[in-house]
Amino acid sequence: MQHTAELRPMTPEERAALPEVSLVAPMYNESEGLDQFFETVTPILDKIGPNWEIVCVNDGSRDDTLAKLIAHHERDPRIKVINFSRNFGKEAGTTAGIDFSRGKAVIPIDADLQDPPELILEMVQKWREGYKVVLATRSERKEDTWVKRHSALMFYRLISAMSEVHIPKNTGDFRLMDRQVVDTLKKLPEKTRFMKGIFAWLGFPTTTIYFERPARFAGQTSWNYWKLWRFALDGIFAFTTLPLQVWTYLGAGISLLSFVYASVLIFRTILNGVEVPGYASTMVAILFLGGIQLTSLGIIGEYVGRIYKEVKGRPIYIVANSYGIYIDD
Ligand code: UDP
Ligand code: MG
Repeated sequence: MQHTAELRPMTPEERAALPEVSLVAPMYNESEGLDQFFETVTPILDKIGPNWEIVCVNDGSRDDTLAKLIAHHERDPRIKVINFSRNFGKEAGTTAGIDFSRGKAVIPIDADLQDPPELILEMVQKWREGYKVVLATRSERKEDTWVKRHSALMFYRLISAMSEVHIPKNTGDFRLMDRQVVDTLKKLPEKTRFMKGIFAWLGFPTTTIYFERPARFAGQTSWNYWKLWRFALDGIFAFTTLPLQVWTYLGAGISLLSFVYASVLIFRTILNGVEVPGYASTMVAILFLGGIQLTSLGIIGEYVGRIYKEVKGRPIYIVANSYGIYIDD
């Protein structure tokens, strides 16, 4: 992890007054909706008590998100800012925010108000009842396009069929986690940050509340279909090795079939003598096997690429500077 001049150890007073709740908000080009975000979220947090923090991560925005965040920090020091050296992606932003948050409960939230902040109160209530994790699951995906809805549904079906970790359907990063869960999370060293999978992998007593997800308040989504596809592959390859192993069975099945086919050919040759050899069956076998071999190679490539990324051991993100952030010494 990269530390900069602003990161300093906590004073004893600061240590004594750890925030009750930390919101973690990764932000990429969110300038347009930022004031509205704080205006909505702050009064809700105040209902829990005065002792909260919002850890904002500026993920290499190209607009004036950072300048606005700094202004908000100067107005209210409970709003804290981590500024990345470039865009590292939402998962890295969430990771950094969680790493530097100090609350007894931590809630990652989207900065575009698509995760309704009112739910925070309900989450905190469930947490006080004793749950370590409170999930917020979207009951409908009305605001999404048909393609996005159905591809999401297929993704959740596929991953739950393949992976031994149950990744809850239609649940994003918006959830409450107890400090104990967060401290466990921080010990996971993996660089491929598929957060919803990582969150699910941790376990702990969990409950769910449901909500309808509103449309984006301002600005634009930064996810296109290609990014979503790569994200889905991250999820699958990080949480199951089934695609690597399935070839053993497929290969064995094909070998068995070709053995049966060979027996048929031998039998026919014995009965009828030598026939004109079939061009069609040869081509089919070659093309079919060629396709299977290329696919399996590609899948091995997906894993090897990810192993390579892990082995290089580069940090998940780089903090250029920060405002109001402390390190545990
Ligand atoms: N985000 C980020 N880095 C990125 C892309 C997005 O920090 O590279 C943030 C973004 O500012 C927002 C959250 O991640 O707070 C969710 O992004 P978005 O609304 O674009 O995703 P969607 O709601 O469409 O899934
Ligand atoms: Mg959004």
